[in-house]
Amino acid sequence: MKTVKTRFAPSPTGYLHIGGVRTALYSWAFAKHHNGEFLLRIEDTDTARSTTESVQIILDGMNWVGLKPDNADNIVYQSKNMQRYQALIKQLLDNGRAYYCYCSVEELAEMREKAEREGTATYDRRWRPEVGKTLPEIPDNRQPVIRFKNPIDGVTVWQDLVKGEIRIPNAALDDLIIARADGTPTYNFCVVADDYDMGITHVIRGDDHVNNTPKQINIFKALGVEAPQYAHLPMILNEAGKKISKRSGDTVAITEFDTLGILPEAMLNYLARLGWAHGNDEFFTMKKFIEWFDLKDVSPSASRMDGKKLLWINGEHIKHTDNKQLAEWVKPRLQNLGITQFESLALSDILDLVKDRAQDLNALTLECIYFYQKQVPNAADIAKHWEDSTFARMQRFAECLADVTDWTAENIHALFAPFCEKEGIKMGKLGMPLRLAVCGTAKTPSVDAVLALIGKKEVLRRLGEDFVSD
Ligand code: GLU
Repeated sequence: MKTVKTRFAPSPTGYLHIGGVRTALYSWAFAKHHNGEFLLRIEDTDTARSTTESVQIILDGMNWVGLKPDNADNIVYQSKNMQRYQALIKQLLDNGRAYYCYCSVEELAEMREKAEREGTATYDRRWRPEVGKTLPEIPDNRQPVIRFKNPIDGVTVWQDLVKGEIRIPNAALDDLIIARADGTPTYNFCVVADDYDMGITHVIRGDDHVNNTPKQINIFKALGVEAPQYAHLPMILNEAGKKISKRSGDTVAITEFDTLGILPEAMLNYLARLGWAHGNDEFFTMKKFIEWFDLKDVSPSASRMDGKKLLWINGEHIKHTDNKQLAEWVKPRLQNLGITQFESLALSDILDLVKDRAQDLNALTLECIYFYQKQVPNAADIAKHWEDSTFARMQRFAECLADVTDWTAENIHALFAPFCEKEGIKMGKLGMPLRLAVCGTAKTPSVDAVLALIGKKEVLRRLGEDFVSD
């Protein structure tokens, strides 16, 4: 059997769209499931819109999510394939499967109007050579375009691996232009030429390309090669059920999810589920996804973004990620918030205590920051947990803490009940103010464990600061 080869073929015109990443993910998983290859092709023939920055954005985005193409050292750039396209176009001309067309702009406009009125294909095949037909006289000083000789009769049919059988009557298809008057090849032709040269067996792409597929299949046939199989993925809509767009305030570019504190693996897990299902499984690794993935389980209808679910999946991944890796993500975020000294306390020890308390890396960072630096408490917490007498009480508790020689959570915990009894207060009257006095926030895990980690000297120092009356 032929090795399965898929490709992701983005156009570098701005950013890497979340829908594009899902397309790449499904192409990658399909190839890996079949022990095949997943290739990257940059569709940069539109020189007016393609930029090297955008190419870099795509490469960075792919790298961030961890979708490594198998041709990473030899990525296909369409802009470098021009000679090959010209050669294949010449082959079609030589075999009578393409022809020159000298129509003027005005003639084409007239044809378009007529076609719109009559609901037919646009081009009236004026320059299409047929046996016994006399072609118009070649006008002076006009560079011709090259058109593909699309079949007129019959139907182009393919079994779409997501949408099922699709049938398009050939009469509805134009003899499309494959080379412009300046000789440059057009989009659909380049896609076919590269899918052919790269040996692509399965084209998995967005369903905005369904209309291109019959044209591409016919070009494959004219080149005398078998067309790949096609799978067209439905759109991803925003939470309101509309097309995702920056203008509606949607998060569109994949790198924005990094900024929002989403883990790459969680992003892929979420996107995997967005339009595909394996029973009720929601949280899984990419290894499992590859094992399970089949195009027949991709839903043919559009799916909707669900920010809550993304965060839930992200939280699950945070819990399951090792502390060393999490620390690599959290550390720069802490640095952005002004933390520069990490020697006193291992970030991985802190993460052990707080990693199940946050659903994104930014929230996780805020769960770590007070271990390094006491925060400024908010007014609501002060109003709720701090009274005039609290500072003095904290000093009395600090005296108890000062006597602890073996500084462990258990030994700190052992002080709580006797202290509360002596003061005639409930535990909450100690725990909350203690959190505020040491951490500057009332939102922390078990306070004995927090104090144990921050260390005796630093805890006593912080307790000595009367932040409220400052
Ligand atoms: N370059 C096209 C796009 O970004 C994809 C073409 C294809 O997958 O065939 O939409």
